Amino acid sequence: MTSIANQLNQINAEIRHAEAGAQRREFSVQLLAVSKTRPATDIIKAYQAGQRQFGESYLQEALLKQKELSCYQICWHFIGPIQSNKTRQIAAHFSWVHSVDRLKIARRLSEQRAENLPPLNICLQINISNEPSKSGFQLAELAGAVAQISELPNLKLRGVMAIPQPATDYQQQCEPYYQLYQAVKALHRPEIDTFSFGMSGDLKAAIAQGASIVRVGTALFGRRPGN
Ligand SMILES: *Cc1c(COP(=O)(O)O)cnc(C)c1O
Repeated sequence: MTSIANQLNQINAEIRHAEAGAQRREFSVQLLAVSKTRPATDIIKAYQAGQRQFGESYLQEALLKQKELSCYQICWHFIGPIQSNKTRQIAAHFSWVHSVDRLKIARRLSEQRAENLPPLNICLQINISNEPSKSGFQLAELAGAVAQISELPNLKLRGVMAIPQPATDYQQQCEPYYQLYQAVKALHRPEIDTFSFGMSGDLKAAIAQGASIVRVGTALFGRRPGN
């Protein structure tokens, strides 16, 4: 087995363990393999070990890999910062976008999503730690954004994504996810079922607080160059 296959098995086992520990249903948490900066050969290794959902952050890099991997049944998620001049290609080449951080981006993605494709699944990125340097909606803007974005015809608003400030303490890791989960539940919209919470460093806390998708790069593929 390749080490990527090994790591994949281990992460999946960790997810199952965290689901059980939090009294969550088995397989209620999906693994998104974050393959930014990784070569297509790494993606193939994970694919051959059963992984189908991959997340990319840099559009040009992602498009090259998608071309190279077009014969594989991969579901592509865009999770990176979005400039408005990139929305057309994102709308054309991805099934999911986790990083919708302003209304204008949502409107463009909806306008530019081809009618012959299924609606684009989106998550609103929430700036949960209120960091001025980070993009995303503020928690106080959530209800208004949900109301407007759920009207856009070619999008399917699935949920929220958060990248809290890194914390090593478990309780500290839980807190922002807890807040965001409660805020979403208070909207009473059963169609909003996706909580894109948690990365390599805080999987367990994220799953305990309701994550339905965890986005894992480093723990699966190893350290990224430059990190
Ligand atoms: C890079 C990235 C990840 C993966 O982070 P790791 O710490 O490598 O697991 C998750 N989410 C987003 C939005 C990212 O940009």
